[in-house]
Amino acid sequence: MNLQARKQTRKPTFCRFRDLAREQLNVEFQVHTNWTDGEASILEILRAAKALNLGAMAFTEHVREETSWFPEFRDEVRSAALGFEGMRIYVGCETKAMDYDGRLDVSDTVINACDIVLGVVHRLPDGRGGYLDFKQLSADETSEMEYRLSMGMIAKAPIDVLGHPGGMSLRRHGHFPEAYFRALMNTSLDRQIAIEINSSYLVDMPAFLALCEEVNPFVSIGSDAHKVSELARCRDQLIALGLGSS
Ligand SMILES: [Zn+2]
Repeated sequence: MNLQARKQTRKPTFCRFRDLAREQLNVEFQVHTNWTDGEASILEILRAAKALNLGAMAFTEHVREETSWFPEFRDEVRSAALGFEGMRIYVGCETKAMDYDGRLDVSDTVINACDIVLGVVHRLPDGRGGYLDFKQLSADETSEMEYRLSMGMIAKAPIDVLGHPGGMSLRRHGHFPEAYFRALMNTSLDRQIAIEINSSYLVDMPAFLALCEEVNPFVSIGSDAHKVSELARCRDQLIALGLGSS
């Protein structure tokens, strides 16, 4: 299974921000189904994605190191995808950083079975196997730890995309320093890790896009969709802001 899974893996290609045209915008690369905390089934998502004319999409399910259902999930995506030939459909996961050196909460088996791996910050490890309480931390402490965890993944982890950069700080404090965003984007170029443009977490999309225009990182587009109605929100927001029109 594992060897076969590895052979069948085909990664999406990510372009740099300034090269985003309509085709590269017409994607949805962060989706959750009822395999984890999403509402819809794989098939329901695919039907909706087709109705939205998406050119490509990735199922990026939440995993943990001990996750054992991934082969079945992957098989279901692959077989459902057979009915949607016009769309590129990827199997992926969203996994969180466990330390500042890019260790992830995911098994090698799952990594090898994925077409796309999103590395994210969800918790702040305390260095002793547990997690810090967000409520006990200031905005500056939270963003600094989030930044260091993100940098560790960009430098070392087997990820394709840094998912919802600054997301914990943005959700809890409404802010992630521009200097951190810029440094993450700059460093991501070394290993060509894509920076996710995430419509669910970014509080100031125009400012983030201006930074993307300046640094020109490889980019991924994700809505963090947990239900059918949230699919392609990021694409639609970017098009509404005028991207991909030249
Ligand atoms: Zn997430």
